[in-house]
Amino acid sequence: MSAPVSPLSIPSVTAPAIRVETILLGVGSSGGSPALGCNCPTCVSTDPKNSRTRASAVMRAGGKTFLIDTGPDLRGQALREHILHVDAVLYTHPHADHLNGIDDLRAFCWLQKAALPVYGNRLMLSHIRERFPYTLMKPNEFWDKPVLTIHEVEAEPFQVGDVTIRPIPLIHGKWPILGWRIGNTAYLTDVSEIPAESRALLQDLEVLFLDCLRTKPHPTHLSVEQSLQVAAQIGAKRTVLIHMTHELEYHALTASLPVGIEVGYDGLSIITE
Ligand SMILES: [Zn+2]
Ligand SMILES: [Zn+2]
Ligand SMILES: [Zn+2]
Repeated sequence: MSAPVSPLSIPSVTAPAIRVETILLGVGSSGGSPALGCNCPTCVSTDPKNSRTRASAVMRAGGKTFLIDTGPDLRGQALREHILHVDAVLYTHPHADHLNGIDDLRAFCWLQKAALPVYGNRLMLSHIRERFPYTLMKPNEFWDKPVLTIHEVEAEPFQVGDVTIRPIPLIHGKWPILGWRIGNTAYLTDVSEIPAESRALLQDLEVLFLDCLRTKPHPTHLSVEQSLQVAAQIGAKRTVLIHMTHELEYHALTASLPVGIEVGYDGLSIITE
């Protein structure tokens, strides 16, 4: 489906109404929380909202289930949220905390007795080819490996069934990576810069899930201050912070946020219509 183009050649992205349910499988950074050997308030907290597995999410729309990334905690996350079926994987980028659970896709291929389509940009797919070439082989009778088909996407929206999926090109340090938008929900993790063309794709959002690594600036992520600035600029009705290190304690961070911005936690589910 091609979007209408305005006289300024900025594509209109006001999405047709579609019900989207997002479940945050994990909102942790690469090390997860608690961090091994740490005694900070987040790491010693008994509040489940301070226990963060590696960043990943499920988005359900149009009868399809889309998995965003395959972190090292995928199996436990799928068990916890009763994710028994996946129609496609939408990859953001190939860092280990977003990719290295790829072997757990085997369970879905086995249950579904079908290859699983995965979508990513050129950089993403080159890492899958080089690091996990066995996931691209034909299935055998045991389905003992993930069986994936890879689909390269950049900025153009594409369809899976009746669902229009829009990749959002982002910058993560030196890497070009992707965020994802379905309907009026967008998921942007591991981002240090949102190009102007991509900001135009983030209008009229009901919910924005946004990278917010820690208080101190970081070369490849948004800090708390930067994340709040970006949230204000994009102006989603609701912004949910994700991909946080243990330095950010749930209740302390929550108390510091303006109206409309909240701290994500593992298992948070949000529906947009
Ligand atoms: Zn990450
Ligand atoms: Zn800690
Ligand atoms: Zn990353």
